[in-house]
Amino acid sequence: MTTASEKTANTPLLEVRDAVKVYGGGFLSGGRRVHALREVSLSLDATPARITAVAGESGSGKSTLAGAVLGFVQLDAGHVLFEGQDVAAMSRNQRFNYRRSVQAIFQDPYAVFNPFFHTDHLFNLVMRRFGIAKGRKAARARIVEALETVGLRSDDVLGKHPHQLSGGQRQRIMIARACMMAPKLIVADEPVSMVDASLRSTILDIMLRLRDDNNISFLYITHDLSTAYQICDDIHIFYQGAQVESGPVDAVLGNAKHPYTQLLIASIPEPDPTRGWGTQLPPDDENNDRDIINGCPFYPRCPKRMEQCVAHLPARVSLDDTGHQVACHLFVK
Ligand code: SF4
Repeated sequence: MTTASEKTANTPLLEVRDAVKVYGGGFLSGGRRVHALREVSLSLDATPARITAVAGESGSGKSTLAGAVLGFVQLDAGHVLFEGQDVAAMSRNQRFNYRRSVQAIFQDPYAVFNPFFHTDHLFNLVMRRFGIAKGRKAARARIVEALETVGLRSDDVLGKHPHQLSGGQRQRIMIARACMMAPKLIVADEPVSMVDASLRSTILDIMLRLRDDNNISFLYITHDLSTAYQICDDIHIFYQGAQVESGPVDAVLGNAKHPYTQLLIASIPEPDPTRGWGTQLPPDDENNDRDIINGCPFYPRCPKRMEQCVAHLPARVSLDDTGHQVACHLFVK
């Protein structure tokens, strides 16, 4: 029998259960329905902290999933649970704690800044809202500490307007603001897609340090398999709202089984400039016109498609005991 303390120890930090989100279907969309999430389930352990990637092209549903975890998107079915508690059913107090424990960083930090206020305003706002430090001195010390965590000097960034800062400083300020709350989870939605290569590596290093030194887990939303491979422990590959392959990043990207994951990996440019891009996804053909309602959404582009793939969305199948799973009829026994 499971004891209460075992139950607490085994309770995931974040769990998404059978999440479904469909957009459209109404008069204004011409009746067209887009399946943004198709029975998506994933789980992040509470400890040790891990970085979990949700990777896919645009339209794969990865940002809808991030929005559902952050409470911006309401699911049509399924649940988001944080430390075992259904987020949709949280009391006011529980929701307040959830908002503090789960922070977000976004692709475009500029959009989060108010151009009329100094950067200090951004910190003071959350400081007041969440009662993080008592008194001006303690508040200042907390801000300076958070800035140092992301490699910024307070003299360089405080008292400045957003346009006086570089894109990298703005992004690091957003991470510092998230850290100031001592969160358990950060949802990082394409945090390095608008920065140059050297800053990208700085931000990825900060994420790794926050995981290892501050025990902060990340849900890393990305279209970039290379950075996912660099920093993530686990990965979920999404295609048109379906979770097609999941597991430890080495297993999924090192030994990809799903035809879509294989094509994605093959399309990563070779570092050798004398060689071109690898295999691209198959071009459009007459099958792309087929409206796949119940079957595998990758059918129109899949080089290994079979007739049964149109009829049913393949269930996720475990390939081994590492957690490597694939949703493809090729592996259904
Ligand atoms: Fe291809 Fe069928 Fe597998 Fe989908 S289920 S990826 S169509 S083989």
